[in-house]
Amino acid sequence: MTIKLCPIHKRNLVPIKTEFGIRYCCPMYGCTIACWSGKTSTPADYETRQERIKAHDLFDIIWKSGKLKRTTAYRMLAMYLDTKSEDTHIGMFDKETAIKTQEYAKDLIQNQFPDIRKKVER
Ligand SMILES: [Zn+2]
Repeated sequence: MTIKLCPIHKRNLVPIKTEFGIRYCCPMYGCTIACWSGKTSTPADYETRQERIKAHDLFDIIWKSGKLKRTTAYRMLAMYLDTKSEDTHIGMFDKETAIKTQEYAKDLIQNQFPDIRKKVER
């Protein structure tokens, strides 16, 4: 298992069982750094995690609609962000990249798949 560290406090994150799986949190009081178990989630603060959630919500609409295969959607995102496909996991993105992903997903929906736009504007 890889040890996950708080990037601010350099402390080992502490695993906590939740209904969604194991969540790793910084033990320092008031620190919002956390991440999920698994290789595709890196520790991030509250703001970054909120942007990742928004990015996932928007991006997942595209492949869940069946307009694109999940792998195709991620390949396109990797090209847009100029990242390697093995590094293209929203759970690894910093805040700026997560925001870029939201913009890309919105743009794609507006311009390529206007019929799923309704779901986004709800
Ligand atoms: Zn911390």
